[in-house]
Amino acid sequence: AGVFVRPLEKIAAVIETYPKGIAGFHRYLDLLATEPDIADRPGARPAPRLSGAVRYEDVGFGYDPARPVLRGLDFEVRPGETLAFVGPSGAGKTTALALLPRFYEPTEGRITLDGIPVTDLTLNSLRRQIGIVSQDVFLFGGTLRDNIAYGRLDATETEIRAAADLARLGPMIDALPQGLDTVVGERGVTLSGGQKQRVAIARVFLRNPPILILDEATSALDTETEREIQAALDRLAQGRTTLIIAHRLATIRHADRIAVMQDGRIAEIGSHAELQTRQGLYARLAAA
Ligand code: ATP
Repeated sequence: AGVFVRPLEKIAAVIETYPKGIAGFHRYLDLLATEPDIADRPGARPAPRLSGAVRYEDVGFGYDPARPVLRGLDFEVRPGETLAFVGPSGAGKTTALALLPRFYEPTEGRITLDGIPVTDLTLNSLRRQIGIVSQDVFLFGGTLRDNIAYGRLDATETEIRAAADLARLGPMIDALPQGLDTVVGERGVTLSGGQKQRVAIARVFLRNPPILILDEATSALDTETEREIQAALDRLAQGRTTLIIAHRLATIRHADRIAVMQDGRIAEIGSHAELQTRQGLYARLAAA
């Protein structure tokens, strides 16, 4: 749901560091000001480098406690595995994944990473373990370099360039007279939706987190751009635990497993082939 895409993007933005410059700083404060009351628990510790085992244990949640949105979510994702969430609009896919970086807290159950309850970790260190590429990419007014290095202000030129190349931004950067120094945003060059997505992908490559949340675009990009982005995302997902909020069945066949959500529950979970054989909800969605 669109209402929830913004919060997901905010997670990517609200990290320990903020971009240089006063505009970036204000943006950071704005983001913090709209954060719900989620803070470090007493005794929270920084996350160690995680292998990316994700586990939801009987998780329930409702924005309004009287109206549950998620019920009894219970699943596990192995390190490096890709799990795609599908299901009707409003089923709770976005909400389910927003709980992982603790944008909201479960009202029941708990979520662990490598067996550690996420509430035992400091918020900053937790969120640094999770890369997010959402359909609504947040760029601030500044250079392409600063936008890519967002969240890793210590990154070297070589690292930034390598991340840009992995995100397939190389040709675009080379075509710009000022390359990485090109100012983007309101006062500079306007990037296309596909280019912004690639900036978001480059950011994650640079931060190199073990866990990735992908919020697939609902509106289609042109075929060529789509293919380029898919290739960059496939590469990004390699070696990372990847959770995808999927809107199109065509792009999820490559997921190791698929969780079909309905009314805040996982109705079915399994590989594409398994779910096809089961002749249930997934098979019906796939046939539609
Ligand atoms: P879509 O495929 O449309 O993105 P979804 O499966 O991701 O849907 P969610 O966005 O998680 O579903 O929404 C689940 C339910 O929670 C819906 O009833 C939605 O209206 C509600 N909801 C989502 N975000 C909020 C919010 N910030 N405040 C209150 N209710 C919300």
